[in-house]
Amino acid sequence: MKLCLFLKGVFLAVFILIFTPSVVIGQNNNPFVVVIDAGHGGKDPGAIGSFSREKNLNLDIALKLGKLITDHTDATVIYTRKSDVFVELNERAAIANRSKANLFISIHTNALKSKSYSGTETYSLGLARSEENLEVAKRENAVILLEDNYSTRYEGFDPNSTESYIIFEMMQGQYMEQSINLASYVQRNFASQCKRINRGVKQAGFLVLRNTSMPSILIEIGYISNRAEERYLNTESGKKAISSSIYNAFVEYKEDYEKKLNGKITQRAEMISVDNEETEVAEDPVETIKTTETTAVSKSRSTETKKNETIYKIQIIASVKPLKKNSSEFKGLKNVDYFKDKKWYKYTYGATSDYNEIKSLKKKMVDKKFKNAFIISFKNGKLLN
Ligand SMILES: [Zn+2]
Repeated sequence: MKLCLFLKGVFLAVFILIFTPSVVIGQNNNPFVVVIDAGHGGKDPGAIGSFSREKNLNLDIALKLGKLITDHTDATVIYTRKSDVFVELNERAAIANRSKANLFISIHTNALKSKSYSGTETYSLGLARSEENLEVAKRENAVILLEDNYSTRYEGFDPNSTESYIIFEMMQGQYMEQSINLASYVQRNFASQCKRINRGVKQAGFLVLRNTSMPSILIEIGYISNRAEERYLNTESGKKAISSSIYNAFVEYKEDYEKKLNGKITQRAEMISVDNEETEVAEDPVETIKTTETTAVSKSRSTETKKNETIYKIQIIASVKPLKKNSSEFKGLKNVDYFKDKKWYKYTYGATSDYNEIKSLKKKMVDKKFKNAFIISFKNGKLLN
């Protein structure tokens, strides 16, 4: 009898909880939840650079981004990992689904055998339209080979087989448009704030995005395989610029979301602008730049983009001897790049495919007392005359 009364009480309590309007929070009062996913971790280092590892860079950026969002907006931030631990790909998506997140942002760092590639790209889920994009997805998905029973868990998905990726053709999905919008905000902020080469908004079959039921993107914050970019990503100012660019994109996205939901923006969060001009550079383990290249092929460590795309740079100095990176010849300018042309070490600044941008950069360099600075161009890594 007592038990029966107790059960009745429990039922009543549950009934009240479910049906009392004051307990049911309206959609509009729900906080905006964003899940930030630092790629790799623990036994999985991700891509390995000359002095740093992808998993650590991803985590740094994820934590910095999360802090910016928590400090400046009313959104709730959930991390898939906050320390150096291994988290399975499926679990990352499950965390986002369980917390009914409005957005999923996965942070990664790119790598290629060709060390000259640099720049940022942001992916949404979809079928890769180029071999290059497919390669990025294959490399990122290969993480599952470190998981137990991955074949059962991912229903026979083989991260290395191109055929496995056909399924992504059907996965354009309802969140495609929103994901692409956010991805383009991210890329635009990267290009303007971080002065990174913009490799664009892309699609590919990332397993970590496949199982999320909300708009989701995967950001490649730069190439750890490129020495100059690896150094940049490891500087405090580089990390600050990268994380605040993603933050700004998040704010833009959230405003769109609120306008759609409520017809107005409920909270205007401050955008953060980063002056990236004087980027401090982390200690380069190699003091003097060495190269064995003797032809006019660019040994640039920071740029090489799509096939047949012309990349412009400003040549500021040429020297028969290699200069130290803190040489007074650079007049305090950081992120100076170089290539070897016959006996000359030619030092350059900036890299873009936009001719107007390089023209205004050239003016800046002349103003900075590089009187003889001039524009040079590269195609497929080769210096053009
Ligand atoms: Zn990765």
